[in-house]
Amino acid sequence: MAKIPFNRPSILGRELVNLQEAVDLGQLSGDGAFTRACNQRIVEMTGAKAALLTHSCTAALEMAALLCDLAPGDEVIMPSFTFVSTANAVALRGAVPVFVDIDPATLNLDPVATARAVTARTKAIFAVHYAGFPAAMDQLAQTAREHGLLLVEDAAQALGSTLHGRPAGSLGDMAAFSFHETKNIISGEGGALTLMRPDLVERAEIIREKGTNRSRFLRGQVDKYTWVDLGSSYLPGELIAAFLSGQLDHAEMIRARRLAIFDHYATGFAEMEDTGRLRLPHVPPGVTGNGHMFYLLLRDIEDRDAFIAHMRGQGIITPFHYVPLHSAPAGLRYGRAAGALPVTDDISARLVRLPMFQALTDEGVDQIIRAARDWLRADNT
Ligand SMILES: *Cc1c(COP(=O)(O)O)cnc(C)c1O
Repeated sequence: MAKIPFNRPSILGRELVNLQEAVDLGQLSGDGAFTRACNQRIVEMTGAKAALLTHSCTAALEMAALLCDLAPGDEVIMPSFTFVSTANAVALRGAVPVFVDIDPATLNLDPVATARAVTARTKAIFAVHYAGFPAAMDQLAQTAREHGLLLVEDAAQALGSTLHGRPAGSLGDMAAFSFHETKNIISGEGGALTLMRPDLVERAEIIREKGTNRSRFLRGQVDKYTWVDLGSSYLPGELIAAFLSGQLDHAEMIRARRLAIFDHYATGFAEMEDTGRLRLPHVPPGVTGNGHMFYLLLRDIEDRDAFIAHMRGQGIITPFHYVPLHSAPAGLRYGRAAGALPVTDDISARLVRLPMFQALTDEGVDQIIRAARDWLRADNT
């Protein structure tokens, strides 16, 4: 039996040809022709007013935190069940990540708990679209409106997903995307910030270009450029953009293949869900996913660890996911939990992710489903 990794990056079209073309064009620093093409494509895919390529989603989240004007003592509501970058972006500004529990059905920010966690110090909500499924953005947007908060999407996993027909990236004030090699569309490391607020675009350009108005200078709008605001170097070079451009050409094909694998898993595991031994991803009403991830929720951490060991024995890599941030050493130091987070603690102990990548074959998926079924049959405790 062939070994099956959790993820394997694929070249799909012009990625390598584009690298040569970028060299031939003679500009390898950022914001050349390939970056502009990627920005344009991301605007089309998300419906955002503007997109700015970054070197990671982490960078885009840091830009979002700067655009929110976070200051020491300010609070930002976010899930504890997320990647560290969501919280780091806030803590780096001296602001406090306030961790709220997730909804057990969607694994996304619980909108009722979010509304309850708002204080006089709350500045923003950072909502994560887990597994590519958009969070309950309608309810979160209402809370943001009522309290004058900014609403940021951590859409790292969600490019191509929609909520009531509206794409991720158009569901808040701004959104951060990732093109890390574990995501759907990749450039090794990579990301983008998208903006729904035209009034934030110029400042975002400045923050991304080391706090200078270099972008305006390059467009001929000012005759010299200078230091005008806080910023850092958040833009990728053209080689990254050239590779990414080759991937974005095939965004629809990537999404279709991943959704086919998702459906294959869902069908293969459906009858096992009926036994109560596991639970499958729940696609909320109005949501269309992008096949970013397929996970199983097992009964408890012992089941989960035994499952991972069994699958590894079959040559199949099935990792667990987030370790809650609210009880992590840095989470305790820089953040605050809004009460107990029982769903986060429970879900993070029981969740396991199955292989999901472009080159995974139908035979591979069948092999994974068979191996999982063998474990469930052998272990009837
Ligand atoms: C992958 C991921 C990130 C970080 O993305 P990078 O591009 O590696 O910085 C942030 N948040 C979430 C939810 C992610 O899944």
